[in-house]
Amino acid sequence: MMRSVYTHDRLREEMVKNQIEARGITDPNVLSAMRAVPRHLFVSEAFADQAYDDHPLPIGEQQTISQPYIVAEMTQALALTAEDRVLELGSGSGYQAAVLAQIAYRVYTVERIHALYSKSRKIFDRLQYHNIVSRYADGTLGWEEESPFDAIIVTAGAPEVPLVLVNQLAVGGRMVLPVGNQTTQELIRIVRTEQGVHQTRLGGCRFVKLVGEHGWKK
Ligand code: SAH
Repeated sequence: MMRSVYTHDRLREEMVKNQIEARGITDPNVLSAMRAVPRHLFVSEAFADQAYDDHPLPIGEQQTISQPYIVAEMTQALALTAEDRVLELGSGSGYQAAVLAQIAYRVYTVERIHALYSKSRKIFDRLQYHNIVSRYADGTLGWEEESPFDAIIVTAGAPEVPLVLVNQLAVGGRMVLPVGNQTTQELIRIVRTEQGVHQTRLGGCRFVKLVGEHGWKK
């Protein structure tokens, strides 16, 4: 069934109220970004009716778009400003990159599956996200030429914190990533300071695998 654009607007508003604000997300930039990005356009038509529901959805290639709350929580943990340059590993549908692009100056996003890379590029073009640069590569190596980054977000589960990524963080930079085994992980927030690296835990989560040189081997 085709739903009108107004229906999606209403569902998105309810999503922000009931799933995001109600669970304690307060950063006004994050709330307005979640209100702005048309999540239903980042999933296939078959799932568009569920786009604003409180769970992840399949996006093909055995990958998933995260639950809306997780996107909001990770974005808030990055404490973004309008000047920030952000690296995302795991473009997937492109939804998280679009949320970041609503807030930050520029988003660099990397995807290792070609079909998802090209699909996400199309939606960035269609929605005119001119501040998203994307690349088809193994993101566990980071994006050396464009580093250092003010923020790095990894949207696939890593066996441990890849040091190469910490080294691509600016002093004052923040990184958020899921770390754990292949079924459950914990969200970790890292801040790089002059003195070193501070790490805090944000709680349990469940992501698909980060596959690559500094991730899972297969
Ligand atoms: N941020 C995405 C969610 C992506 S799911 C969204 O908003 O839809 C995780 C994605 O990470 C998958 O598309 C997977 O292919 C990708 N991925 C896994 N390992 C990767 C790597 N080493 N480099 C880049 N992308 C990777």
